[in-house]
Amino acid sequence: MGQNPTPGERLYAIVEQGLCIGCGLCQAVAGADRVRVCKTLNGYEQPVVQGELDDATVDRIYAVCPGTRIEGLPERLIEADSKHDNVWGTWRRIVRAWAADPEIRFEGSTGGVLTALGIYLLESKRVDFILQVKTSNSEPSFGERCLSFTAADVIEAAGSRYGPAAPLIDIDEVLERDQPFAFIAKPCDVAALRNYAEQDSRVNELVKYWLVMVCGGYGTPQGTNDFFRRSGIEPEQVTGLRYRGRGCPGPTRVETADGSVQEFHYIDYWGEDETTWTLPFRCKICPDGIGEAADLAAADSWIGGGPDRVDSETDAGTNAIIARTRAGEELLAAAAADGALTIEYDIVPHTMSLYQPHQVNKKYAAWARHQGLGDAGHIVPQTARLRIEELARELPDETNEFQRKGTVERVEIGKATEPTPKIWKPDRD
Ligand SMILES: Cc1cc2nc3c(=O)[nH]c(=O)nc-3n(C[C@H](O)[C@H](O)[C@H](O)COP(=O)(O)OP(=O)(O)OC[C@H]3O[C@@H](n4cnc5c(N)ncnc54)[C@H](O)[C@@H]3O)c2cc1C
Ligand code: SF4
Ligand code: SF4
Repeated sequence: MGQNPTPGERLYAIVEQGLCIGCGLCQAVAGADRVRVCKTLNGYEQPVVQGELDDATVDRIYAVCPGTRIEGLPERLIEADSKHDNVWGTWRRIVRAWAADPEIRFEGSTGGVLTALGIYLLESKRVDFILQVKTSNSEPSFGERCLSFTAADVIEAAGSRYGPAAPLIDIDEVLERDQPFAFIAKPCDVAALRNYAEQDSRVNELVKYWLVMVCGGYGTPQGTNDFFRRSGIEPEQVTGLRYRGRGCPGPTRVETADGSVQEFHYIDYWGEDETTWTLPFRCKICPDGIGEAADLAAADSWIGGGPDRVDSETDAGTNAIIARTRAGEELLAAAAADGALTIEYDIVPHTMSLYQPHQVNKKYAAWARHQGLGDAGHIVPQTARLRIEELARELPDETNEFQRKGTVERVEIGKATEPTPKIWKPDRD
């Protein structure tokens, strides 16, 4: 960005500095006639300026964008008797559980609890619909926002999608319906909508439940295409992709234009461990992959953070669930009492660290990485109630210095840089 950037250049700085996660909210804030969040030339979903933008609108975007602002649980939702863990945040109860209905447990990514809770919220008439993400109709590797009104709709949306998805792209129209709903999404999506609640009072009136999956990041479009190619599939031939679900984690299922179907293991897509994940830059500096601002967060429960090829053949799926608020705790208890969820037993934050070592590492590294962004002259995301500085202070100075310098180096060699977004068109691909 130059000395006096235009409003459009300011918006593009978020993308160009690798901080856009493609949630879609800036389109809703600016209006689709001025900003369109859509597939761009580098394969992500990103904002493209269409009309005249002004600084006041871009200021509003900076105040809500999860690339520039990420906060933990709103203070009003932290009860006097809530518990706190420096890594895992505010919690009231943590359990191992699964969807009581074996079909839902099977369909879901892990134990199907988010799907079971979505259905329970509809059937108990606590909400009218669920705002969530299902497989995109137009881009097989993407997710797209959907409104689920029935159990069948929620089941259709089951399964994690490790590609771009913009659940907040038309949040204004969703709020316009004036109906109570639940939001199921990634932690950064929830952070965005919590931010937006400060600009639009309808959010807190209508969003009755905020549910997330614990999230280590999604696969880059480049990484997904590389996976196709090393599996002998040309990316443009892919007509359907189911990343996981139908088992735990379930097969990565690829359909191609010639009508054939191939199934792979989760490990074929992600690799053996954290070091092989290809993630968007925003995910590498994520200060909250654990859904601190949600009522309830659902996670995998593999010791060490990933599945075993052999064990996963018979794994029926068990989620770890963190209920953070009174609403989340009450929902968990009611869903179990009414037979929607099976709770195996209670666990503690330390158990979560055994299941999610990558989340622990990232939480400790986030502050120094953000400092590195500042050193490199990049936008530093504003954070609050996430304890990242406090956690970093527990580490030796040299560890923080390593992370900080590593981030500066990443910026210098272009690993935090994305091109100015341009709309992708099929004939240009
Ligand atoms: C990008 C990504 C990264 C993840 N990383 C981790 C991790 O590091 N550790 C961990 O424990 N778990 C991770 N998960 C979560 C895990 O895969 C399961 O989703 C979680 O355990 C809940 O399982 P479930 O069986 O209850 O889900 P399901 O019952 O299958 O429900 C999944 C829900 O997630 C929604 N959803 C799917 N994809 C997206 C998306 N891209 N954006 C927004 N909403 C979506 C669906 O609409 C559905 O409501 C990740 C998920 C995603 C999407
Ligand atoms: S993260 Fe969301 S709000 Fe921020 S620039 Fe990207 S699409 Fe827009
Ligand atoms: S790691 Fe963080 S930024 Fe990346 S998708 Fe997950 S919650 Fe969003």
